[in-house]
Amino acid sequence: MKEFILQTENVSYAYEEGEGLALKGVCLGFRAGEMTAVLGHNGSGKSTLAKLLNGLYIPTEGKVTVCGMDTSDDAHTWDIRKNAGMVFQNPDNQLVASIVRDDVGFGLENIGVPSEEMPARIEKALNAVGMLQFIDRAPHMLSGGQKQRVAIAGILAMQPRALILDEATAMLDPKGRQEVFDIVQRLNREQGITVVWITHFMEEAARCERVIVMHEGRCVMDGTPEQVFTRAEEMRAMRLDVPPMVALGDLLRAKGLPVSREAMDVDAMAREVLKCQ
Ligand code: ADP
Ligand code: MG
Repeated sequence: MKEFILQTENVSYAYEEGEGLALKGVCLGFRAGEMTAVLGHNGSGKSTLAKLLNGLYIPTEGKVTVCGMDTSDDAHTWDIRKNAGMVFQNPDNQLVASIVRDDVGFGLENIGVPSEEMPARIEKALNAVGMLQFIDRAPHMLSGGQKQRVAIAGILAMQPRALILDEATAMLDPKGRQEVFDIVQRLNREQGITVVWITHFMEEAARCERVIVMHEGRCVMDGTPEQVFTRAEEMRAMRLDVPPMVALGDLLRAKGLPVSREAMDVDAMAREVLKCQ
């Protein structure tokens, strides 16, 4: 088994002293190279978990570590930020400079990267997200999906071990959503970056290797997409859907067609249906 890059040990979090807990005793580990989807209804604690995982929040109880470093230890603040990068929902809130190049380089000074190293790092990061040809453009001229890819490049330039994306595709059109998911999946597969992909799109979760479900501040399910999405009744009880192709598969099996439970996206389902002819 690979080492944990991000780990929460019995973590609880309260926004205000004496108020209710937004997270309750969460024990989770994310191993090197894993790509995990985090699902959960509004208010279930996904964003709170994300901000704990990169040290933006410090646990009220319990412990969070990033590459073994305790997030409550101030001595590691920059090392933690550098290793666990966050991408948020709104691309417009994340771009700070007037040229893509400067935007991607923005964080590098803070982590002490020598200025002569910066151009190569910036180009490599933009290349990895397929945005190198936009290096001299103004970020506000880009599409939503392109802006998110620039935001991701800004994190990649810091050479992180983990990426935490909090509904990074929620504000994008279907094309933008697809391009951002594909890029992140490729970074996971080709560079071994650990990914925590918070989403409310079930079809995205179906494409991750592991799915976690949050409910009322607790992690209530944790398994492969197949293991989680076959618990459709429990999902519905938590006001969550299953991916469209999983629902279709259930229907077809009920009608006697032997389609596999592993077919959770359109391509896989199409192959299963064709096999039934
Ligand atoms: P999710 O991202 O799954 O929608 P959140 O982590 O944002 O859930 O919220 C978890 C709980 O914490 C909710 O009950 C929410 O109302 C509460 N909460 C979130 N942000 C704040 C905040 N800034 N101040 C106080 N309570 C908050
Ligand atoms: Mg949220």
